[in-house]
Amino acid sequence: MSPSGRIHLVGAGPGDPGLMTARALELVAEADVIYYDRLIPSSALAGARPDAELVYVGKRPGVVTMAQEQIIERMIESARQGLSVVRLKGGDPYIFGRGAEEAEAAVTAGIAYEVVPGITAGIAATAYAGIPVTHRKDASAVAFVTGHEDPDKPETAIDWPALAAFPGTLVFYMGVRRLPAISAALIESGRSPDEPAATVEQGTTSRQRAVVATLDTIADRAAEAGVKAPALIVVGAVARHRDRLAWFEDRPLHGQTVVVTRARTQAGELAGRLRALGAEVVELPTIRIEPLIDTDPVRAAATDLAEGRYGLLCVTSPNGADLLFDALGAAGLDARALAGTTVAAVGGGTAEALADRGVTADVVPERAVAEGLLEALGAFGSLEIEGSRVLLAQAEGARPVLADGLQERGAEVDVAPLYRTVSLPPDRVALEAAEAANWITFTSGSTVAGLLKAMPEGPPAGTRLISIGPITSNAIREAGLEVTREADPHDLDGLVAALLDAVAGERA
Ligand code: SAH
Repeated sequence: MSPSGRIHLVGAGPGDPGLMTARALELVAEADVIYYDRLIPSSALAGARPDAELVYVGKRPGVVTMAQEQIIERMIESARQGLSVVRLKGGDPYIFGRGAEEAEAAVTAGIAYEVVPGITAGIAATAYAGIPVTHRKDASAVAFVTGHEDPDKPETAIDWPALAAFPGTLVFYMGVRRLPAISAALIESGRSPDEPAATVEQGTTSRQRAVVATLDTIADRAAEAGVKAPALIVVGAVARHRDRLAWFEDRPLHGQTVVVTRARTQAGELAGRLRALGAEVVELPTIRIEPLIDTDPVRAAATDLAEGRYGLLCVTSPNGADLLFDALGAAGLDARALAGTTVAAVGGGTAEALADRGVTADVVPERAVAEGLLEALGAFGSLEIEGSRVLLAQAEGARPVLADGLQERGAEVDVAPLYRTVSLPPDRVALEAAEAANWITFTSGSTVAGLLKAMPEGPPAGTRLISIGPITSNAIREAGLEVTREADPHDLDGLVAALLDAVAGERA
């Protein structure tokens, strides 16, 4: 008998990827197969193994991708094959998540399972909206209630008079469509029409909106504001604290969804900075970096460097810097191999990556493109280019500008192609989120090509495009698209500044 796998019922939290638990991230990273819902954070799958099978089983109101029985069947089948299965759900699996049915099915099938609680919307969306669900003066209890039941049906499972009399905050899930009926039923059963009430829509995400009114008026106010699912209804005195306690919606990029197209291994820094500014970040890695360090030209370059044969080393990207050191390491060498060589870096990020390995670049051009490096080298006094040997550490198929320019000046140029970028098919949640985004950021020409592979028709009209620099901008224009803003300086700082500026401009 083959050993059976395990089923993990995992809560992914309410939307902000920062609210996934450490255990959830760990299990996503280990899983062989992940069955995921619609209401999970847009980057919840970013840490999955590249070879993991990702299966979308979401339901959107009215459209069911896979019936509950079938999801359960597939999960059990996967576990029986010995796979590690993650069932990833929005919020907490046992709060209106049908997690119990899935655990019961695992028990019946004799399959080991683990439950990883998640932060439920009822405490998180409210907290992000400035509504504490309990309060020393205003609420000593809180009830989570399904709003899915029709209060007008005689067979409703909800005891409305008991609920109306509940001495604390009521939080309704899945209730926006029935908000008029819910508020009417509560008032009719004795709850005060003047009691504060609120809705919190898409809580903890960059699209969070809240409406505060009274139990009597909340249905009208929410309808006027066009509140749609997913949203919570909060009934109780605590709703009035939002006035003073709202904090989340003030950040400069709140309400903006921004796509990061960099390779997954590099997306983290940019994504983190944008999130901290309030943006919803969709990581849509359209390219993957494939190291080429185990090749003849790279091995030869590493030993020649160590033997001091090069007068100048030019590194053109942070990837190039990292992989150069990996190549040195593979040859049993380290930073000392660069001891007698002048080191030039294109871009602040490249200089930083070199600094991380203990090497301070001698030349960092102001303009972070190959042409800028040629100019800077011209101004770099102590270096004689004519007759010197130069090593270019760059990507396979990089533009020949630097090599040609150096050769024209009489240098003998060797190229060490350290990596190639290959395009990567995107996951479906990320692609859907990207199609609804306000902004797409591009950090290289290859990310432009990668995006067009993922979205062959191009981004939807109205999506604004931010480019890291002139080369990337050209690639965007050559694809027939318009560059909304170009970063200056041509690095991540410049990119973030360009986006902030563009958003502020649109708001003004
Ligand atoms: N298991 C989930 C709830 C699933 S039921 C949890 O623990 O949060 C789906 C309902 O949850 C939605 O109709 C909505 O009422 C609520 N919900 C989920 N995510 C939400 C969010 N980000 N903001 C507001 N409400 C949310």
